[in-house]
Amino acid sequence: MNNEPGLTTEIVHSDREFGVEHGGLHKPIHTSVQYGFDKVEDLIGVFQGTLKGGFNYARQGTPTTAALEAKLTMMEQGVGTVSFATGMAAITALFLTLLRAGDHIVSSRYVFGNTNSLLGTLGDLGIAVSKVDACVVRHVAQALRPETRMVFVETVANPGTQIPDLDAIGRLCREKGVLFVVDNTILSPALFRPKDVGAGLVVHSLTKTIAGHGNALGGAVIDTGLFDWSRYPNINEAYRKGDAKQWGLTQIRKKGLRDMGGSLSSQHAHLIGAGAETLVLRLAQTSATAMALARFLEGHPAVARVHYPMLQSHPQHALAQKHFKAGSWLMAFELRNADACLEVLNRLKLPVKATGMGDSRTLVIPVAHTIFWEAGAAARAEMGIADGLIRVSVGLEDSADLIADFAQALAD
Ligand SMILES: *Cc1c(COP(=O)(O)O)cnc(C)c1O
Repeated sequence: MNNEPGLTTEIVHSDREFGVEHGGLHKPIHTSVQYGFDKVEDLIGVFQGTLKGGFNYARQGTPTTAALEAKLTMMEQGVGTVSFATGMAAITALFLTLLRAGDHIVSSRYVFGNTNSLLGTLGDLGIAVSKVDACVVRHVAQALRPETRMVFVETVANPGTQIPDLDAIGRLCREKGVLFVVDNTILSPALFRPKDVGAGLVVHSLTKTIAGHGNALGGAVIDTGLFDWSRYPNINEAYRKGDAKQWGLTQIRKKGLRDMGGSLSSQHAHLIGAGAETLVLRLAQTSATAMALARFLEGHPAVARVHYPMLQSHPQHALAQKHFKAGSWLMAFELRNADACLEVLNRLKLPVKATGMGDSRTLVIPVAHTIFWEAGAAARAEMGIADGLIRVSVGLEDSADLIADFAQALAD
């Protein structure tokens, strides 16, 4: 018999493991910006890090954000978490606190558009970036240099659903002593744990899968405990103290949260924590609906191609089957007639025409006309973004209702 509690059991009881306040079952929203002490020694203890679990100023965290961080650490089976106001704040803090001018980073070329833009900013700051097709580990291996500090990939890319060769890249990074960073926003630990393929750090936009309701922004960096920070050259002297497992996250918290200030509010931490309780249930529903919709679309004469990891036709289908419990809510499909794209979208009644993803409502967007418009036609062609490509973020609607709606929208 397996005595490990399931993920949902752990999530819904995690707040109580860290002390209930007044018997409340849910962690309260702590709104205080300042935290005071009876004895000045305790105030000093918070500053010097000797008073564990103490708070002093909400930019560095509150009891509510700390409770969410503990929950996320448990969910990714890590050793610690730092939360941020948005996913982009988390990724920016991670890059700017761990990389220096003269360093090099290898990134998948299939990453979230704003992350791609941020990689351009790193270039401006003197950090070299190689963007490779990480679906093939050889491309990552060939890009490595002596000054390569990290390899960055997303578990499932948006909108094309490309999947990097996760365990091969993990092995390569371990062999070379390079930090492996995985953005696990789309799948979440309900479907896949990057720690299982050797990731040292896991990044999340909590806004999407983990919150799941589209009412709160948030981000997080989680340390899996696998990376040996004593070998990482860019840790400041001040943070090279105590357990080396905590050095990286200490630097991200001090430099990235305290100094850069993209802090998560208690209100949003509470909303994200409440959303996380239904994570496993939502992903079972949205993954099943997405699979049914993907099969329906793949069989439709008006559709040229469907991008969904759990379809046999997906280029990395074997990888997805090996590593992921299900395919999640993200898919994209190409119409045979790109000119019909806007008309089809306007005929859809249930899905909302909106950017963003991971909401409880199904969202659709024409990719070339919107999120990849600024990139230009040449970059779109290189990334495989066809003019008739539609991204679908599958919500909680009943599967039959959604499929019927797509059927009527595609009928001519
Ligand atoms: C949305 C997203 C982000 C950015 O998160 P925000 O919370 O919107 O800032 C980062 N990575 C991925 C994969 C995303 O989908």
